[in-house]
Amino acid sequence: SSGDEMNGQGEKIFVSVRVRPLNEKEIAKNYSSDWECINNNTIICKTAVTERSKYPNAYTFDRVYGSDSTTRQVYEEGVKRVALSALNGINSSIFAYGQTSSGKTYTMTGITQYAISDIFDHINQQIDREFMLKFSAIEIYNECVRDLLSADGTPLRLLDDPEKGTVVDKLTEIHLEDWTHLMELLAVCEAQRKIGETSLNEMSSRSHQIIRLTIESTANEFSVTDSATTLTANVNFVDLAGSERASQTLAAGKRLKEGGHINRSLLTLGTVVRKLSKAPNGHIPYRDSKLTRILQNSLGGNARTAIVCTLSPAHIHLEQSRNTLLFAVCAK
Ligand code: ADP
Ligand code: MG
Repeated sequence: SSGDEMNGQGEKIFVSVRVRPLNEKEIAKNYSSDWECINNNTIICKTAVTERSKYPNAYTFDRVYGSDSTTRQVYEEGVKRVALSALNGINSSIFAYGQTSSGKTYTMTGITQYAISDIFDHINQQIDREFMLKFSAIEIYNECVRDLLSADGTPLRLLDDPEKGTVVDKLTEIHLEDWTHLMELLAVCEAQRKIGETSLNEMSSRSHQIIRLTIESTANEFSVTDSATTLTANVNFVDLAGSERASQTLAAGKRLKEGGHINRSLLTLGTVVRKLSKAPNGHIPYRDSKLTRILQNSLGGNARTAIVCTLSPAHIHLEQSRNTLLFAVCAK
């Protein structure tokens, strides 16, 4: 399909925006939504019309989704193609970006399940290749990498492998059998994430989670091409830390500052994404953070990337929502 064609600089990042519905508390307080999707591609800020603002009122992306959208739609209309490219040996990453409580985990959980379900279906239908799936999961908190499939909380080191690039040393990789097995593994990850949370406040809003599926395939006796080549690719489902602390720095394109309150991985991701979009052949600072090192081979270059930016609809979140949209604009 035309979607598989490459130009020398790789493909553009697929950028979408999703506004979650107002929740019961917000409705009880008579909050209303600032945002309206006027078509498939354009979201406007309804309240900005009346104020003098340094921000635009309308924003255009590959897709925008209002509060009545389903995760199935968000997945099917763009993200799916990126995720399934790993079946053809092309690395891919899907990110959820937004402030805490805007719907990142809700959206990414659904996307992960729809994508892996489609991958299972595809594997069952393609009779001329043998497939092997490997599942792993990590959390990055304060630039420490933790294995979400191991009860041992020791930080994992990153190593530079001459062939594979950056690898996470001693990371648990499990041969993924079927759907039931997937559900079990996802439950283990969720439990491990919660254990971290009780010992450190706000952990879930400050940490990144990466669920990685490695797809390996080899032609078998039914293949007509008789190519013995093994295809290997990763698809990464990335539930990012809340953008609230990093967003202003990011939006302004300021230099990365040190300090515990700054999320180095999130800021570096912003820089990497902006550079990939504006100057893909220049220097891309992948090595400046754990997140971007781990994802280097699945971000930019020949890899496929989708970002879903999530917004909280209420007016009290206007500033954060605008910062999220500025990030999304930079990624286009
Ligand atoms: P985040 O991961 O960005 O902090 P969550 O995904 O945990 O946010 O969402 C916050 C709350 O809002 C959760 O209770 C979640 O179930 C709910 N929520 C988020 N997005 C939606 C949506 N699109 N439709 C319905 N409920 C949603
Ligand atoms: Mg979350």
